[in-house]
Amino acid sequence: MTQHDNRSIENRFATIAVGAAETERRPHRGGTSDVVPPIHLSTTFEWASGDNANEHDYSRESNPTRAALEEQLARLEGGEHALAFASGMAATSTTILSLVPPGGHLVSSDSIYSGTEKLLTELAAGHLNVDVDFVDARDPENVAAAVNSDTDLIWAETPTNPLMRLCDIQAIDDIADDHGILFGVDSTFASPYFQAPLELGADVVVHSTTKYLNGHSDSIGGAIITNDERVFEQLAFAQRVGLGNMLSPFDCYLVARGVKTLPARMEHHETNAMAVARFLESHDRVARVYYPGLESHPQPCE
Ligand SMILES: *Cc1c(COP(=O)(O)O)cnc(C)c1O
Repeated sequence: MTQHDNRSIENRFATIAVGAAETERRPHRGGTSDVVPPIHLSTTFEWASGDNANEHDYSRESNPTRAALEEQLARLEGGEHALAFASGMAATSTTILSLVPPGGHLVSSDSIYSGTEKLLTELAAGHLNVDVDFVDARDPENVAAAVNSDTDLIWAETPTNPLMRLCDIQAIDDIADDHGILFGVDSTFASPYFQAPLELGADVVVHSTTKYLNGHSDSIGGAIITNDERVFEQLAFAQRVGLGNMLSPFDCYLVARGVKTLPARMEHHETNAMAVARFLESHDRVARVYYPGLESHPQPCE
């Protein structure tokens, strides 16, 4: 995998990873000058006056620890808005079920994370009568052929879990733009360190923070990041008002802490994964290795 070059990884990305949750001097710091966002467990917040809430009112709607993490995630992904969810599936289902109406049409890449596939087939198609087309998105022509005037959303997971299939985000975004429809990307496996879907034109990026973003196997969580104000309002309403599937303050703290080491961890993951992949590929008892860094991968990296 290659890093997105136009962001000067060493300086900018790593600096954001370490400091973005802490740079804002928010009123809730209460003059204590914390350099780490405190874990705010309060469910309710005092009002400034009888008819004026302060920045936060009720923690389902917004919470200072969650706001700090959301700002950190938005900045890492190069986006305006982020929402932190109780799981990757909560982020994915909120995105898909909010942006595709019952009876609507969704085109999704195939061979995706099994939970997402079940969400699409059993909940979206089975329960809400959404017409779901799975296509091999490694070739954008397959996506173009499945999109029609009724399509509400194109969904792509790249790299896919677990077969590491890749798709061309920019080429698929062109198709979405041609039809004036939204394009969402599950970028969990690349993390914001290796892939920046918003810069390539995607409207919504989803992560399971459970994986690389938190990175310590001690928190289930998810996130969406978008630059689209209307999409953000729609998803924030679904999360904060309708579904209530936000990440708890303690988990927000864990993810914000995990994200600080994302750049260092991803460098090691890449080096180690390459060594393991090469070892397995040369092993006579291994039939096939799926890893995008290998020359033998069906879609070698340029
Ligand atoms: C793990 C995973 C999810 C689901 O995330 P949870 O946090 O387990 O709900 C979604 N997409 C991908 C690519 C994943 O690897």
